[in-house]
Amino acid sequence: MRKRIEIEIDGRVQGVGFRPTVYRYARECKLGGRVRNSSRGVTIEVEGDDASIIRFLDRLRNDPPRQARLDTIRMRELSPAGLTDFQIVPSDVAGEVNATIPPDLATCDECVAELFDPRDRRFGYPFINCTNCGPRFTIIAGLPYDRERTTMAGFRLCPECRREYTDPGDRRFDAQPNACPACGPRVRLVDAQGQQVSGDPICSTARLLRDGAIVAVKGLGGFHLACLATDDAVVARLRARKGRPAKALAVMFASLDEIRRHCVVTDEEAAELMSPARPIVVLERRPDSSLSRLISPDTGDVGAFLPYTPLHHLLLRQVSPLVMTSGNRSEEPIAIEFAQLRGILGSIADFALDHDRPILRRCDDSVLRVTGGTRLFYRRSRGFVPNPVLMPVSGPVVLACGADLKNTFCVTRENRAFLSQHVGDLSELSAHRFYAEAIDDWLRTFSGRPEIVAHDLHPDYLSSRFAETMRDVLRVAVQHHHAHAAACMAEHGLEETVIGVIFDGTGYGPDGTVWGGEFLACDLRSYRRAAHIKVCPMPGGEEAILHPERMALAYLVQECEGAMDRLPELIAKDERALILRMLERRFRCPLTSSAGRLFDAVAAIVGIRGRISYEGQAAIRLQSLARPCAGTYDFEIQEDSDPMVLDFGEMIRAIAKDVESGTDAGEISWRFHRTLAIAVSEVCERIRRRYAICNVVLSGGVFQNHLLLRFVKDCLRQSGFGVYAHAEVPPNDGGIALGQAAVALANHGGSVAPSGGEQCA
Ligand code: ZN
Ligand code: ZN
Ligand code: FE
Repeated sequence: MRKRIEIEIDGRVQGVGFRPTVYRYARECKLGGRVRNSSRGVTIEVEGDDASIIRFLDRLRNDPPRQARLDTIRMRELSPAGLTDFQIVPSDVAGEVNATIPPDLATCDECVAELFDPRDRRFGYPFINCTNCGPRFTIIAGLPYDRERTTMAGFRLCPECRREYTDPGDRRFDAQPNACPACGPRVRLVDAQGQQVSGDPICSTARLLRDGAIVAVKGLGGFHLACLATDDAVVARLRARKGRPAKALAVMFASLDEIRRHCVVTDEEAAELMSPARPIVVLERRPDSSLSRLISPDTGDVGAFLPYTPLHHLLLRQVSPLVMTSGNRSEEPIAIEFAQLRGILGSIADFALDHDRPILRRCDDSVLRVTGGTRLFYRRSRGFVPNPVLMPVSGPVVLACGADLKNTFCVTRENRAFLSQHVGDLSELSAHRFYAEAIDDWLRTFSGRPEIVAHDLHPDYLSSRFAETMRDVLRVAVQHHHAHAAACMAEHGLEETVIGVIFDGTGYGPDGTVWGGEFLACDLRSYRRAAHIKVCPMPGGEEAILHPERMALAYLVQECEGAMDRLPELIAKDERALILRMLERRFRCPLTSSAGRLFDAVAAIVGIRGRISYEGQAAIRLQSLARPCAGTYDFEIQEDSDPMVLDFGEMIRAIAKDVESGTDAGEISWRFHRTLAIAVSEVCERIRRRYAICNVVLSGGVFQNHLLLRFVKDCLRQSGFGVYAHAEVPPNDGGIALGQAAVALANHGGSVAPSGGEQCA
């Protein structure tokens, strides 16, 4: 029997070669009808006999395009209209926005093959792409995804490109960024004076890099700063000029084989490196690697990644491996256009390899590690953004503002959370401007006007202040560590009460102390502080973050007064007197339960000293030092108080004694990590007894430490707990917006009446 069916598909179905696939399958099944992009996704109409329609649907479900994701499929029957031909028709621009923009996709193998084929008309063309690969998120202004709503709008297709673009049988059919040397974007090389350099820009760039120059290279989501990764002198120069003394620099390699010569790569890590997202994957460096030690002076690791644009492929074939770090000064947002290279070109970079395809959205590289078979994100950005994270809660549109450091924010639509790209440190004026613009962009593109704005409980966070500027919304303040726990719960679809073990740097506690070593009994709606690490003064408040020796002194004064006299090298004499006076008078010494600050203290006591240039640097060095050995330290759990208190005084005394007796720092570090894991599991044990909760979520910036994460997971599993760690968003503040959104929806999932502020506790 002849039928006509309308099929509406939501999900990631635009910009991934969906319509040509539909076209091909419909023709194969001898169906008439049409397909078009809509604001919600894709709408298909097919007409033909029953069996063919079923065959067509099976084909589409079982074999969709590689990068597509079908979220929902709705069907309804229409009366037959005598359609015999199948067509791809123009987009329907009306209707609510519900389709999702795909993330940027690394150059596919077919395109790389053409790129290096001298007979191909795109041989050596740095902007080759197809329906399976190329820029998406960074060039799409709005939906539906059509060329006129991308930054390719200004490039007129030449006849040959137009033929490919309009031929449903071509692999570039409807590839919006399609281009060739005759009609597409071009690269140019510019010197420090802004003068264009003649000759082949890519060959010249390669030569300059080999000669030790630093070149700003325009990529997908912004400029990189590139230099030879094997040359100490140029890496040192880059660090000095960029104002980044120690934080690890990412290295791009020409091929997976080349990475294997410098790093240990497991199959899982190789899969991440080769994925279309092409993230930076943190790997263990081989001892015989010729990479400069200055790449990652604090650890034995290398953040490695592979070329993901044709331009990278062309460049890396000629010169590799290259340091490729974001084109910015310290924590500012990455530069995306030539005009923004002011302050970079001439002062940090000697040359710039620029091109004329505009970048619409800034997007830094993603960084992750593979540990225990799963992803541990340090930064979730290019290649993953804007894929939504599905939450177990739903409701009106929420804007979650995130936190002030490593900021990302998120907007929700029903149960989908769209986390933003990496924004950075909001205290930087330029990052704050980017933040406001990006929020505007996301609300317009993904969700529409929010009814709820969720933000951190900290009244002085710039992100909280931003929330206050939003009118006619319900404002919901979420405690920092509850948001961390909720982010992990949301990711795993957990709605029941769990124990949230949140080991973090610092976060606003409602009791006036600085929290950060928390055991919460919580669900998505609310939390109860079941236990925390015993508080210690933090001399100078936030300043202590960059002075681990101050935390060491504070811990020693609190736990073993005599020891600090026996460790005279801990801190300079005059500073020591000053800090002691501050501690004595409790002047500018807020109390903190932070696990991050405990790490700092232990690191400084075992001898990791000297200038700290980023939060957690001492802790990272402490972890990379750890050397397997037997034994652990003692600690105490004060069970009679509510919340319970986890007291590491005994451990601090033992560590001080070990240091005095000359015990190896690597062994102390190992025992310290082991002790924390045992302590976590024993505290959880007591919480389980008291509240009958047996699932644990792990979150907070300290869980970026993969050694601690492994130990804690093992200990908890041995004690019979269900253990959940992050796999989709970072455990650091880059994942916190997801938790804020989930808490807001759990409390206000129904309809809400706009009013003033409110606090979830
Ligand atoms: Zn391709
Ligand atoms: Zn062309
Ligand atoms: Fe945090």
